[in-house]
Amino acid sequence: MQNWSKRFQWQPQQVAYPRSEEEVQQIVRQALETGRHIRMIGSGHSFNPLWVTDEVLISLDEYQGLISVDQEQKTATVKAGTKLHRLGELLFEHGLAMENMGDIDAQSIAGTISTGTHGTGLHFGTISTQVRALRFVNGKGEIVMCSATQNPNLFKAAQVSLGVLGIITEITLQCVPAYRLELRSRKEELSEVLATLPERHRDNRNFEFYWFPYTELAWTKTANIARDQPDKVNVVNYLTEYFLENYAFKVLCEGARMVPALNKSVARISAASIPDVRKVFHSHKVYATQRLVRFNEMEYNIPLEAHESVFREIIRTVNKNNFNVHFPIENRVVKGDDAWLSPAYERDSAYIACHVYHKKDWKPYFDALETIFLAHAGRPHWGKMHTLKAGQLAERYPMFEQFLQHRAEQDPEGVFLNDYLRKCLILD
Ligand SMILES: Cc1cc2nc3c(=O)[nH]c(=O)nc-3n(C[C@H](O)[C@H](O)[C@H](O)COP(=O)(O)OP(=O)(O)OC[C@H]3O[C@@H](n4cnc5c(N)ncnc54)[C@H](O)[C@@H]3O)c2cc1C
Repeated sequence: MQNWSKRFQWQPQQVAYPRSEEEVQQIVRQALETGRHIRMIGSGHSFNPLWVTDEVLISLDEYQGLISVDQEQKTATVKAGTKLHRLGELLFEHGLAMENMGDIDAQSIAGTISTGTHGTGLHFGTISTQVRALRFVNGKGEIVMCSATQNPNLFKAAQVSLGVLGIITEITLQCVPAYRLELRSRKEELSEVLATLPERHRDNRNFEFYWFPYTELAWTKTANIARDQPDKVNVVNYLTEYFLENYAFKVLCEGARMVPALNKSVARISAASIPDVRKVFHSHKVYATQRLVRFNEMEYNIPLEAHESVFREIIRTVNKNNFNVHFPIENRVVKGDDAWLSPAYERDSAYIACHVYHKKDWKPYFDALETIFLAHAGRPHWGKMHTLKAGQLAERYPMFEQFLQHRAEQDPEGVFLNDYLRKCLILD
């Protein structure tokens, strides 16, 4: 097995693909009888070893699809292994959509919510806030259900749970009527973007920007509800997204890997070649981009009000240290929520994400930026790289210990723990 960025390779004794909740229960009971541990994998798109195990690995790839739709409430109950791209299509067939998404759709819905995956937009929480109810098989082999009205505290723990409460089998999502988005993507002066940041977040449904290291340029992406009909297939957009962002960029990444002195030039060429793009399409197709160039990533959540000053400190640090990097740094915002392990717990937030080509050393760069994030109340994205241990995480998540109590109740034998999760969750 390997994860998307190829950072981790591991060989479980058993990989199980259950087709029903009963099969999931059987696997847990067998593990309890034989004293083995279990980890779950969605699409393996996390950047840390959340699913690494040499014992039992469960994939719900054979447990995908819609279970039911409530048109009046605009909710959909789905099998937890359903990949987001499939979910988007299934919802669309019923005139529904997710209110917001991140920038790819390869993940499973269970993996997505388990790490607090998010998109951008001040009116939207992480994707876990779209969850209305959950059903999972806990570490005793029991089926547990929770929602805002049924086991409400457990629900707040389960909305972002890293797969340590149990194996999620069903998720009820609050959807919205299907909608189209108009996406504008272009390059702009960074100074202009920073000077108008609050207005851009206020005036647009979704706004994000990327800064190319060692340049004065930003790549902005703005999406708003569109009344226009969806575009026909647009060759220019297609070439931009598939060719420039992937194949041409990969050639540049390899060049900068072999000749590190090229990093700054690659950043400048990449920034300069961002074209103006406008497209109108169904929302689930607009959010999703293709990411064929592999990278490793660290992303931190910081309080919204600290965004500009933290980001300016990052610019100074990158420019001063001449890191061997050229990937743009991504900036997004998210509304605060009340899921206990959500990085946006009780605060409107900005997220800053830094990426390094997967064949290059990320450590000096990530270490320097992490120091800045930690000095500004940063909370790491659970699916991305960070160095924090349980004690440090407990200081940053006010409901950390309450979460751990639920973990101990749902999985008293620690069936769902691996070494990495023990480091992150078990307090000394
Ligand atoms: C190219 C790329 C782009 C990305 N873009 C974004 C983005 O825009 N926004 C963002 O926030 N993140 C983003 N991410 C991170 C990604 O969304 C998260 O890491 C997400 O968790 C991956 O989903 P997955 O299905 O691959 O889950 P995995 O990585 O396979 O698993 C994640 C966690 O979920 C658990 N899990 C999986 N299935 C179950 C289950 N049935 N029950 C209980 N636990 C389960 C796993 O054990 C693990 O702890 C991106 C990652 C990549 C590689």
